[in-house]
Amino acid sequence: MTTVPTCNHIFADNHRCGSPALRGERFCYFHHPDRRPVANPYERRSRRGFTITVPHDAESLQRALAEVMQRLAANTIDVHRASLLLYSLQLAARRLPAHTPYPETRGRGLPV
Ligand SMILES: [Zn+2]
Repeated sequence: MTTVPTCNHIFADNHRCGSPALRGERFCYFHHPDRRPVANPYERRSRRGFTITVPHDAESLQRALAEVMQRLAANTIDVHRASLLLYSLQLAARRLPAHTPYPETRGRGLPV
């Protein structure tokens, strides 16, 4: 039977954390000294990166736009970052061919 090393953090009331320590480390994820403290958990969520579709046509532009919108609605993206992404998508949209049909209208001859 192997024992899992536990976190060495000592709380103010003098009891140990007891959570499993990170592999090869003395502290758990929560108490590791390299972990930057965040007062607001929303800020931690908004720091996480994500992959966005590179817009090369109307369909991929819509996917990228939807990704940013969903993250804004879920409050998991920094508003400033979202603004920059939306602006970038706006610039990308201007560079798309003028009459690229949306997938739903492809074949019907409807202009975008
Ligand atoms: Zn801990």
